[in-house]
Amino acid sequence: MKILIVEDEQKTGDYLKQGLTEAGFQVDLAREGVDGLHFALTENYDLAILDVMLPGIDGFGILAGIRRAGKDMPIMFLTARDAVDDRVKGLELGADDYLLKPFAFSELLARVRTLLRRGGKAPSDPFFRAADLELDLLRRRVTRAGQRIDLTAKEFALLELMLRRQGEVLPRSLIASQVWDMNFDSDTNVIEVAVRRLRAKVDDAFSPKLIHTVRGMGYVLECHD
Ligand code: CA
Repeated sequence: MKILIVEDEQKTGDYLKQGLTEAGFQVDLAREGVDGLHFALTENYDLAILDVMLPGIDGFGILAGIRRAGKDMPIMFLTARDAVDDRVKGLELGADDYLLKPFAFSELLARVRTLLRRGGKAPSDPFFRAADLELDLLRRRVTRAGQRIDLTAKEFALLELMLRRQGEVLPRSLIASQVWDMNFDSDTNVIEVAVRRLRAKVDDAFSPKLIHTVRGMGYVLECHD
C-alpha cells in the first residue's frame, strides 16, 4: 500500500513518514504543494494525507487537482485545531476524512486503515450515529430523538471523537490530546467537567444513556439496549 504525505512542517512530515513506514506502508513525502500535486498525478497511491496550509498550492488545490485528474483515492486532511471552515470546505470538496493537529499517531493509523478498507469508493458519510443521537459533521449539528442540541466547539469535538471511536474506551490522555491540544495533566479536571456537561446535554433527558465512565480508564460512548 502506497501513501502520499504532503506536509511542510518538517517535524510532522518526518514523524508521519517514519511511523507509516514502520507500520508497513510505502511512503512518499512532499514538503510543498506543487511537488505534492506532481507526485499525486504521476504516481499511483492508495491514500493521500494532505496538510491544508502549504506553500505554493494548498491542500484544497491539491485535492481539486487530484479529483480533476479523475483519481479517486481516499484523501485525509490535516487541519488546525479550530479551523472549522477548513474541515467543512475539505469535506465539501470531496475529502474523505480529516484529522485535527496535533494528533496521536495511533489515531492517524486507525483512520488510515479505515480509509484504506473503504477504498475511497463510497463518498464519506458526514453523519455519526448512536441510538437516536446524530451528529452531522458538515452542518455542525447534533440532534437526539430529533431534538436539536446546542454544543460548544469543545463539546462538539469531544462528542465527535467519542462517536468516531464508538465502543472504544478512550483514555483521558487521548481525549486531552485530541480535543484540547494538551498533554494530560492530572491536576486538571477539565475533561471530567466537559464530559459532565456533554452528558447533561445529550444523555440526561434521554434513554438509553450513551456516555459511560469506565473507572480508572476513561470514557466510552456505546449503546447498551
Ligand atoms: Ca502547513
